[in-house]
Amino acid sequence: MSGIVVIFDFDKTIIDIDSDNWVVDELGATDLFNQLLPTMPWNSLMDKMMEELHLQGKSIKDIEEVLKRVPIHPRVIPAIKAAYALGCDLRVLSDANMFYIETILKHLGIRECFSEVNTNPGFVDEEGKLRILPYHDFHTFSHGCNLCPPNMCKGKIIERIQATIEKKNIIYLGDGAGDYCPSLKLTKEDYMMPRKDFPVWELICKNRGLLQAEVHEWVDGEDLERVLVQLITTTISMDEVVDNTNQLFDYKFETIAHKVLPKPVYVP
Ligand SMILES: [Mg+2]
Ligand SMILES: [Zn+2]
Repeated sequence: MSGIVVIFDFDKTIIDIDSDNWVVDELGATDLFNQLLPTMPWNSLMDKMMEELHLQGKSIKDIEEVLKRVPIHPRVIPAIKAAYALGCDLRVLSDANMFYIETILKHLGIRECFSEVNTNPGFVDEEGKLRILPYHDFHTFSHGCNLCPPNMCKGKIIERIQATIEKKNIIYLGDGAGDYCPSLKLTKEDYMMPRKDFPVWELICKNRGLLQAEVHEWVDGEDLERVLVQLITTTISMDEVVDNTNQLFDYKFETIAHKVLPKPVYVP
């Protein structure tokens, strides 16, 4: 392992569009979606939309087919495979849902690259209807973060990840306003990769002093690949320098220790 954890947002980071909007638009439910949007939180609306699509006779197969044609920049998959091959621990942190993400990652052949997918639950119920539930059940418990939507605070999830990894560098990639809260949790050993001209980038630019992590922006999939691979290889070679220095020190110490030391001379 490289000692690096790479955390990817999903919508507009791994894939090039928003998966919720993509499914709704492709299945012809945009008008209803826009009509209901002011009446409930986004995550609850997606559950409602899946119910509406089910009533209109749209099947899980129809949803899967739409998900499999999701647009993705051609360099994103090679970037993910390269990070994995370099020994990084890859994770997804997304406000989409498990059904969409698992379907897309499996279809792209990169599900195995990720050790963990943190997102809203998404599953097919006994009626064959897709259910989308909140990550945090906000009806019984509030996460208490005013930067984040009620169903998910990505910062809270980053804190959980930080508590379980030891002495590792995090590289976080994201585009949305929901990626701002987790960027504030990163330390000076970490890297934040905001997508240029997207909401998280704008929030970071406005509050530059609040971030401890080093910021490296990216524009598209090609840029993402270049910046990510560069950060990983630089971090790995820096770690090697530290390791080699330690080995050198141990070696010298042992060499000295094994020499016969002259007896101390006591001056009366
Ligand atoms: Mg996003
Ligand atoms: Zn938050």
